[in-house]
Parts: sequence; structure tokens; C-alpha cells
Amino acid sequence: MDNYLIINARIVNQGSVVTGFVLVRGGVIRAVAPGAPQVETDQAEVIDAGGKYLIPGVIDDHVHFREPGLTHKAEIATESKAAVAGGVTTYMEMPNTSPPAVTIAELEQKYARAAEVSLANYSFYLGATADNIREIKNLDPASHCGVKLFMGSSTGNMMVNNPGARERIFAESPALLAVHCEDDSIIRRNLAAQEKVFGENIPIGMHPQIRSEEACFRSSALAVELARKHQTRLHILHVSTARELELFEKGTDFEKKKITGEACIHHLWFHDADYERKGSLIKWNPAVKTAGDRDALLNGLLEDRLDVIATDHAPHAIEEKQNNYSETPSGGPMVQHSLVAMLELVHRKKLTIEKVVEKMCHAPAKLFRVKARGFILPGYRADLVLVDMESEWTVSRRGLYYKCGWSPLEGELFHSQVTHTWVNGKLVFMNGMFNEMVRGERVEFEEG
Ligand SMILES: [Zn+2]
Repeated sequence: MDNYLIINARIVNQGSVVTGFVLVRGGVIRAVAPGAPQVETDQAEVIDAGGKYLIPGVIDDHVHFREPGLTHKAEIATESKAAVAGGVTTYMEMPNTSPPAVTIAELEQKYARAAEVSLANYSFYLGATADNIREIKNLDPASHCGVKLFMGSSTGNMMVNNPGARERIFAESPALLAVHCEDDSIIRRNLAAQEKVFGENIPIGMHPQIRSEEACFRSSALAVELARKHQTRLHILHVSTARELELFEKGTDFEKKKITGEACIHHLWFHDADYERKGSLIKWNPAVKTAGDRDALLNGLLEDRLDVIATDHAPHAIEEKQNNYSETPSGGPMVQHSLVAMLELVHRKKLTIEKVVEKMCHAPAKLFRVKARGFILPGYRADLVLVDMESEWTVSRRGLYYKCGWSPLEGELFHSQVTHTWVNGKLVFMNGMFNEMVRGERVEFEEG
């Protein structure tokens, strides 16, 4: 029996918080109403939320689960488990695996694997290369989240620097184009300058000077220019600088607003003073930059210039992260703590819980045209998360579900905790316990 009646919940949905109940039956939200239920309850298991907050499951539009081929770092089973423990019920996963997902056939193999092992709902991006335009053109936007283009290098070499190939991708992608923007020629020049000074021992604190504001701005500006020219649905991933904000317009109507931006947890949480404390554990591409950049990104979300909050969850083995600057790969795990980290900003009065839900649940659903998810409304899939806003705890290695077994947030004190997570109406996580029999579904998308 997977029918639930969740009562006494502070339901956060579409900009308001209402105390009431939600009835879930057959994987679908059947009723949402204020007050106490008038419906028959003997057909459903009653969960008394006791005033805790009920929010739509988080939709994370940017994760790297490393499968196939890089499974010493992470795998779909482990990371999807961490995701549901963190209140993330749907993820969109990136193509820089091994082999990279650059054909529809390779992409379908990832869906098949996820169907076997994923505890959360899933979609996978097709990777763009200089020569797979035919695959891109054949991508069905109703069954895939989008195309990922690296205009700048990161883990796995999928960078498209050929201007002709790049322009064709912008012109012809039938699906949303999600882009990593960093200008590689600027980065290489900056790196060479630092190598002259430090040789092989470049301090990690130089990372934001090497992967500089200029490198981000130039590349993002070029992407915006190409998108305007070709009317592309462009989503710029992990915006990391105050300066890039001028490239985005305010607004939340994604039928009109075709150029959108993502902010990532680490860029909203850390700033450059943290390199001393955390070292290479907070080495990301694009780099964590100044406190001014961090605050500007938060403001960009508040004024709807930036549209979604995601993780760029990108685990590496701890040994890999303990190399010297040049050898240490960029990226870190985040999907288990993205929601509680943003709720911490609610405790600090920098965000409201309604805004967190807007940017982590509603906006990714609307922007990607996800079918029937991301809201607490009758007829929607029952992806739900119950959050205790008054529960103090410290992130420790013991409580992590990541395969890599470490987190850049170890030692952080949080005041909120995810207590229950439902995926398609199935209770997959409850107070630290999992139902590992639950499987997520392949996400579907509305036609544009
Ligand atoms: Zn990424």
C-alpha cells in the first residue's frame, strides 16, 4: 500500500505556506487542502507532520554521477541514495562519463542503468562534440532534458572550441542547451603566468585568478550572443561572478525568457577566504570567487536574474583531491546537502523558504518543461519532502552516503533536516532509513 495522508504539514507551494494536508494515492497527489482532512483515511497511512514543512521534491538540473566508466568516484545507486536523503527527488545528469554520452544509443544505456538502480527520478543530457550534430538534431526534447556543451574544459575532454561547430549547435539543437562557460585561452594564459611564479607548487588560493572572472564573463557573453542570434534556449550553468549577472534579464516566464542562469550551492556558500581552510576540497570549475561575487549571486536569485539553484554534484575520490594544484581535479559532492544548505540561508534570513522552493523545485520544472513534477498540486507526481526546520546537526563523514565518502561541508552546522522523502508516492527515505526497493522514473517533458 503506497497511499499516504500527510496531515498537519506546512505546505510550501507557489509562494505561500499553508498548514493543511496532502493525500497521495497511486504515486500521484490527489488532494491538497488547508486544515484537517474531510476525506476517508482508512485507505491511507497517516503521517502526522507535526507542523514540519512539506515541499515539492528538489529537481537538481546539474549532477555528475560518474557512471559508466568513472565508478571509482561515484555511481548512480550511491549518489541517488544520497540525493533522496537530501530531498532531491529528480536529477539531470551530465554526459562527461566514460565513454561520454555523445550518441543517443549511449544515452539510452544510461537510462537503462538508472531504471535498474536509481532511487530518484532521472534524465540525462546528451553531450555536444565538434562532430555529433546529427545526434543532437535527432534528440527528442520530450524524453531528454537537453544538450550539454562545454565552452571551456573540465573533467573529461569534451570541449567544443571550433567556432563553426559551436555555432551549428546553437543554431540546430532541438532541446535546451546547457553550457559550461569559461574561456580556455584566458585560463591557459593565466595558468602560464602562475606557473612562472610558483612552478609546480601553485597555491590553491590562486585558482580564482587562473579561472578568472574575465574567463567566465567572456565565455558567457559569447554564449548569450550566439543564443540571441539563433533564438536558442540557453541555460548557463554555474554562474560564478557578479559581472556575469548583467547578461541576464529579470523574470520567471520561461516561455519568454529564453536565456537563463543556474547558481550552484558552492558558489552561494563558500568564498575565496575558504581556500585556506578547505584547500583543494573546494576546487571547482568555475572557481569559487570573492565574497562580493557570492553575495551578488544570491541577490541575482532574489531579483530573478538567476533562475535555478543546483549542485553541480561532481565527486572525486579523496586521494584524487589531495594532489598538487594542477593534478587535483575540480568538483566535489553536494547533492545530499543542497537543500539543507539553502535552508540554512533561510535561518540566516537571506532567503525565504518560498524562494528556496521556487528556485530548487518550481523553476527547474518550468524551465525544463518537466511533466507533472515540481509542485504540490493535484495530478502531479507525488515527489515530496518533509523538512524539520528546528533540528540542529553537524555534517560528519559518518553520515554521508556518497561513494567517495567525503564532503566539502564536513564540520558545518545546520539547523534543518530532511526527515521524509517520497519519490512517485513511495516513501524512499524516513529518519535515516531507506527503502532501497524504490526506483525512480524517467522524467518526461512537455513539448515547447
Ligand atoms: Zn558540472
